Amino acid sequence: MSIISGALYVVATPIGNLGDISARALEVLQRATVIAAEDTRHSGKLFHHFGIKTPTMALHDHNERAVSESIIVRLQAGETVALVSDAGTPLISDPGYHLVGQARAAGCQVIPVPGASALLAALSASGLPSERFVFEGFLSAKAGARSAKLVQLREDPRTLVFYEAPHRIKESIGAMAAVFGGDRPAVIARELTKTFETIHGDTLAGLSGWLAADANQRKGEFVVMVGGAPQTEQLVDAEAERVLRLLLEEVSLKQAAALAGKITGVKKNLLYQFALEISGD
Ligand code: SAM
Repeated sequence: MSIISGALYVVATPIGNLGDISARALEVLQRATVIAAEDTRHSGKLFHHFGIKTPTMALHDHNERAVSESIIVRLQAGETVALVSDAGTPLISDPGYHLVGQARAAGCQVIPVPGASALLAALSASGLPSERFVFEGFLSAKAGARSAKLVQLREDPRTLVFYEAPHRIKESIGAMAAVFGGDRPAVIARELTKTFETIHGDTLAGLSGWLAADANQRKGEFVVMVGGAPQTEQLVDAEAERVLRLLLEEVSLKQAAALAGKITGVKKNLLYQFALEISGD
């Protein structure tokens, strides 16, 4: 594999299981001039394990803006820089955004080396709809701001994906149940790719009880996924809509919903809601 001089490589590293490092990631890390790491001591253990002796420099939330400038100078001088974070894909709830933005603005080539990311690993095994999803990263630690954000997301039909810390997991699931309703389906993915990997799905109310009952399930790293808001329009199929529209021409909205429910087997509450929406068109 050839490595491009003057390029910034954004390199994903494992989220637990070291076997998840890619051959390409190892090659880039070995051959880069320097590795910019979120925590050089933490990543040093990974590099040691794989015999990587490339010099490292620290790039974290507190020095990123200042250090990025010096990295751009090095890239422009033809050096190759690899960026890693503590785990998973840099920039995903991790540093690197300013560096990548500045590098691209300066005309430097930025090359992704894809690999593990907790969000995609969790979603791919959750069984929740994955065609459309929204990643919210970490919710605020403050109860008020967290609830306000959840209220904003309440009607979103896409699967919602969050990262959460162990000391807040129980509280967050409780807040989600309060805002989204306890019967919303959700999945907790804990300790992915590690010894105690657990992927557990239930309603939000069920998950609250499960976390309260077992302190072990509140340890480690978490991805929380919540099914999107149910869409009445999707649940009312074309035939039910046709029947409902015909009845709406003859009888009241309430009667139309009740009769259409009896004829088609679709729940009358859904039909009533749907009738309200189409009457407003
Ligand atoms: N850049 C990383 C990625 O690509 O997934 C995420 C970094 S963020 C600072 C760390 C959070 O990611 C953890 O608090 C947890 O919510 C989630 N996470 C990371 N590794 C995980 C794992 N093995 N299992 C479950 N969640 C994980």
